[in-house]
Amino acid sequence: MLNYWITAIKLMQVKSFTSWIVLVLLSCLTTFNAHASGIKILTTEPSQGSMIVGQLLVDGDVYFEQKQLKVSPGGIFVFGVGRDAASSVELLLKQKNSEVKFPINIRQREWQIERVDGLPPGKVNPKSEEVLARIRQEGGLVKSARSKETEYSFFQEDFILPAEGRISGVYGSQRILNGEPKRPHFGLDIANKTGQPVVAPASGIVSLVHKDMFYSGGTLIIDHGYGISSTYIHLNSISVKVGEMVKQGQEIATIGATGRATGPHLDWRLNWFNTRLDPQLLIKTSKGE
Ligand SMILES: [Zn+2]
Repeated sequence: MLNYWITAIKLMQVKSFTSWIVLVLLSCLTTFNAHASGIKILTTEPSQGSMIVGQLLVDGDVYFEQKQLKVSPGGIFVFGVGRDAASSVELLLKQKNSEVKFPINIRQREWQIERVDGLPPGKVNPKSEEVLARIRQEGGLVKSARSKETEYSFFQEDFILPAEGRISGVYGSQRILNGEPKRPHFGLDIANKTGQPVVAPASGIVSLVHKDMFYSGGTLIIDHGYGISSTYIHLNSISVKVGEMVKQGQEIATIGATGRATGPHLDWRLNWFNTRLDPQLLIKTSKGE
């Protein structure tokens, strides 16, 4: 910046006082703009389903879709955009006397169509009142685990894959179960034998353990802080308890085929509160496509 001004001054051969004033004013304007854009996005090329980490470089509050984001002492904040996010989203930076919009480009993705046939009809379209009540109750437990907003900053770790195996399902694909279009699939499926280990992809605090939910079977949720959590379903066994701190790489469960699963696999999910994100985008070696 300094070089730029020196060059400008040389080029203009500034002699008059008025020219100096103009230069000083221009310089102030440039500084003002630099502050107005006091947000830096640290995630490279955010796309639909991305967990997006940013840094606030000035004093102020950051909002995404009316929600004020928690900001660390170092200025770090995080939020996520869902599968169907528009090609541009906006953060709002609120300072004492100003509100500045900060647009972020969101790469648009294409989704796979996934057909699953041969499921027991009762699992595709549950009818009984008893089953529906169970599904509601379990949904409530999951929702409350995902709505936690804690101070932990484990979401900043470089995530690793929680299991070894064949990728058998990806985030965002449209599922057609027994010929009926259903909600998109929000997990990364890793197929392997029942009993194979599941490890924590990043450190966190266990926020939910359930032995057998109707859809998801053995279910585990880990809170990574600031509204970021990860979910592990169809588990055969779970070796951690609610409130326990787990370290990245620590064994937390084993792969199973519990709940609505056609074979043994881990279904790994990532959430920003109740927005479902793509966990595969956090793994450095994969593109998530
Ligand atoms: Zn799955």
